[in-house]
Amino acid sequence: MIPRAPKGTDDILPPASRRWRELLRVFDEMTEQWGYGLTLTPIFETTELFARGVGEETEVVEKQMYSFVDKGDRSLTLRPEATASVVRAYLQAGGQGVFKAAYAGPMFRYEQPQAGRRRQFFQVGIEYLAEPSPDADVEVIDFGYRLLERVGVTGVTVLLNSIGDPADRAAYRDRLTGFLQERIGRLSDDARRRVATNPLRVLDSKVDADVVADAPAPLDHLGEAAAAHFAAVRSGLERRGIASEIAPRLVRGLDYYNRTVFEYVAASYDAAQDSLGGGGRYDPLAEIIGGKAVPGVGLAMGVDRITAAMPEVGGEDLDVFVAVAVEARRTEALDLVASLRAAGVRADLDLGGRSLRAQFKAADRRRARAVAVVGEEVTEGRVTVRRLAGGDDEQIPIEEVAAWVTSP
Ligand code: AMP
Repeated sequence: MIPRAPKGTDDILPPASRRWRELLRVFDEMTEQWGYGLTLTPIFETTELFARGVGEETEVVEKQMYSFVDKGDRSLTLRPEATASVVRAYLQAGGQGVFKAAYAGPMFRYEQPQAGRRRQFFQVGIEYLAEPSPDADVEVIDFGYRLLERVGVTGVTVLLNSIGDPADRAAYRDRLTGFLQERIGRLSDDARRRVATNPLRVLDSKVDADVVADAPAPLDHLGEAAAAHFAAVRSGLERRGIASEIAPRLVRGLDYYNRTVFEYVAASYDAAQDSLGGGGRYDPLAEIIGGKAVPGVGLAMGVDRITAAMPEVGGEDLDVFVAVAVEARRTEALDLVASLRAAGVRADLDLGGRSLRAQFKAADRRRARAVAVVGEEVTEGRVTVRRLAGGDDEQIPIEEVAAWVTSP
C-alpha cells in the first residue's frame, strides 16, 4: 500500500492548481505594484518565538503547534503563521526604517481537519512595518480587498473592529471579566480558564457565542488615540470604496494585535463564519519578541479558502502542442518547441513516439489552443497548423508558427 498524505494535508494538482497559480500570479504582481518586497523566512523557528509572539494563552500556541526537539536538543516549531517571523527577521537585520514585506508559503496548525481548516495550509500575506499611520492600515486592508476582487471572488465584506491600545484594555478587561464571572456556569471549560488569564479570547470563542453575545464591546472602551485612529481607518476605507462592517466581537485568535483588527468574508465562500483572510495592527509585537518598539500592520490571506471561492480559471494551458507526424522528423519538432518557448510561447510535445491520433488527444487533454504537425514538409520549411476550437488545416512557414498561435 502507498503511504497516504498525512491527515489534514492536501496535494494540489492540476487542474485545481490552476486557481492557485492564478492567485499566486496576481499576488506577485500586486505586491510589486504596491511596493512590497519578497521576504522569505524559515519554515521552522524557535518555539520561543511563537510562544512569546503569538501568545501562550492562544488556541494556536496551546493546542496547535507542530513542535519538535531537533538532534541538537533545540525546541523548534513549524510556523503556524508568518508575522512573528517577519518581525523577527526585520529586527535581526537591524530594523531600520519603513519595511514592506510580502510572503507566501505553507503554515502548520494541529487543527481538527475539515473543509477550509487544514493542518498544512497556505497563506499569502503582507506586513507594513515601522509605520504607525492609519493610512497604512487602510492600505493593507485595501490590498486584501483588491486581491480578492482581482481573482474574481465576489460579495466581499471587510469585518472591522478596534480592540484599542494595551493601556485602554485594562479597564475594559475588568468590565469584561465581571461580565463573564456572572455567567461562569454557562461558559465552556476553555473559556472558564481564560476568564482569569486572557478574557478577550472568550469573545471569539465559537462555542461560547451565545453567552458573550451581549458582552461589553472593546469598541466602547477605546482611549482617545485609538478612537481617532479607528475613525481615520474608517474614513480611509470609505474613500477607497471598500465595503466594511463593524464587528464588535471580532478580536482574532492571536495575542499581538492592538487597535485595528479585520477579516474578509465573501458571498461566494459560504462556509459558515469562516474568513478568507484577516489581519490587524500589532504595535506591541516587536517588543513582545524582545526587540525595540516597532509599529506594524499586516494581513494573511488563506489560499486554500480563496481558491475554493474563486471562479474556474478559463483559457488554454498551452498555446500550441507540437505533434510529430513522422518519427524521422522528431529532431525538427524538438527544435520548433525550443524556439517557440524561447519566443515566450507556451509549447509542448509528446516524447513517446505515439500515434498522431494519440497526440491530438493529448493536445486536447492538455488544453492546447492549437496543434502544429511536423511532417515531411518540414524539410521545405513548412508545418501544418490547426486550431482545436475548430478550423481548417493550414500549411505555414515554420518561422511563422509563433505569430500564428498567438494571434487571435
Ligand atoms: P490567521 O493566521 O489565523 O489570522 O488566519 C488568516 C487566514 O488564514 C484565515 O482567514 C484563513 O483564510 C487562513 N487559515 C487560517 N487557519 C487555517 C487552516 N487551519 N486551514 C486553512 N486556512 C486557514
